[in-house]
Amino acid sequence: MSTPRIAIVGANFAGLSAAQRLGSKYDVTVIDRSPWFEWRPSIHELVSGLKRPADLRLPRARLVAQAGHRFLRAEVADIDPRAGRLTTSDDRQVEFDACIVAVGGVSHAFGVAGAARYALPLKTVDDGVAIGRRLKALARGRNRMSVVIVGAGLEGIEALGEILRRYRDRESLDVTVVEAGPRLMPGSPSALDATVRRHCAGLNVQFLTGTAVQSVTRSRVHLGSGKSIRSELTLWTVGATAPALIRESQLADQPGQWAPVTRALRSRRFGNVFVAGDAAILPRPIAKQAYYAMQMGQFAAENAMRAVAGRRLREFIPVPKPMLVAFGDLDTFLVSGRSVIASPTLAAAKELVFQVTMAQIDPPLRVAPMRALTRRLARAATAAR
Ligand SMILES: Cc1cc2nc3c(=O)[nH]c(=O)nc-3n(C[C@H](O)[C@H](O)[C@H](O)COP(=O)(O)OP(=O)(O)OC[C@H]3O[C@@H](n4cnc5c(N)ncnc54)[C@H](O)[C@@H]3O)c2cc1C
Repeated sequence: MSTPRIAIVGANFAGLSAAQRLGSKYDVTVIDRSPWFEWRPSIHELVSGLKRPADLRLPRARLVAQAGHRFLRAEVADIDPRAGRLTTSDDRQVEFDACIVAVGGVSHAFGVAGAARYALPLKTVDDGVAIGRRLKALARGRNRMSVVIVGAGLEGIEALGEILRRYRDRESLDVTVVEAGPRLMPGSPSALDATVRRHCAGLNVQFLTGTAVQSVTRSRVHLGSGKSIRSELTLWTVGATAPALIRESQLADQPGQWAPVTRALRSRRFGNVFVAGDAAILPRPIAKQAYYAMQMGQFAAENAMRAVAGRRLREFIPVPKPMLVAFGDLDTFLVSGRSVIASPTLAAAKELVFQVTMAQIDPPLRVAPMRALTRRLARAATAAR
């Protein structure tokens, strides 16, 4: 029998975990458009300059080669499960017996005019760098630093914390946070809303909850109420939607819909496709978090191996973990279900999770990664002070 071919589309948390789980008995091709694995849960720290891009990135080609597989840097334009073939935007083709789709999500404009054009998303390292640069340029200028953050979920609140870490002493800074839901961090314990507001009392920060945004222009954010706010920098942190590839490859019915999967993480549409991480929607949906994405990636790899061997698939059981939400140097929150603990010292725990997981992804078996780990831990100690 020929070696089973497994293709992995997307190589961040879910896709890379899948690749690292697959053994050398398989002919594995891992495809991602970008050369870097990115630690997205800390990209808000690029906004203040606390972290640099190199702190959050690892080279995919090396990680995939260490796992014994082939890395292809390319944009996947089409997945054809019936033919067992995918095609890249530069017309390369990869044939597969099983495909693991781990393409994550993309920023969602929710049909708001001007949002995609004039507001900056915070989804990737490049996004974090772009926001940090814009803030620096504003800080050098003579105008007021008017910043509007649309969306007060995890991304928006973490971005606000970093802006305040770096610029809260500037008299010219004013920040408005606009949130359509009734409070900050909708879905989290209400104590979080109250604590964030308390930290911002006395600063030039205004919160507009229960407020929809109508449109965004170069220098203004127009609200549903008819009012508008001046904005030199608008951040768009309202949530994510499924990449177009999901619908175009018929893994979902509707544009923007996440790919429906069974509890075995198998596509409901195609038996030879597994979907892991943010891109998938389980029968009982779970939070779109990096630690779930990693669990799902490993699990999808297990089941892909079982599928090509004609064995029975296993059911994925998510293992929940508490979430650490940073609010700059002002506070860090440990959220577990309906409970929340707040303390600035929890920043060290968040940093530790980051450093330890990076070391698991890139085990320091050789001198260079060992030096990188030592450097990172030294920086973690500085960040926690
Ligand atoms: C600001 C922010 C803060 C966060 N904080 C936390 C946190 O504190 N804790 C936590 O657990 N999670 C957090 N998350 C969520 C976490 O980052 C995601 O859940 C996680 O990244 C999902 O992993 P994934 O592998 O499914 O997708 P992604 O990380 O989005 O990776 C998808 C990969 O697919 C590639 N790709 C997509 N389409 C194609 C294509 N057509 N061709 C080739 N490659 C493609 C992309 O380049 C990317 O590398 C945060 C996210 C953000 C944005």
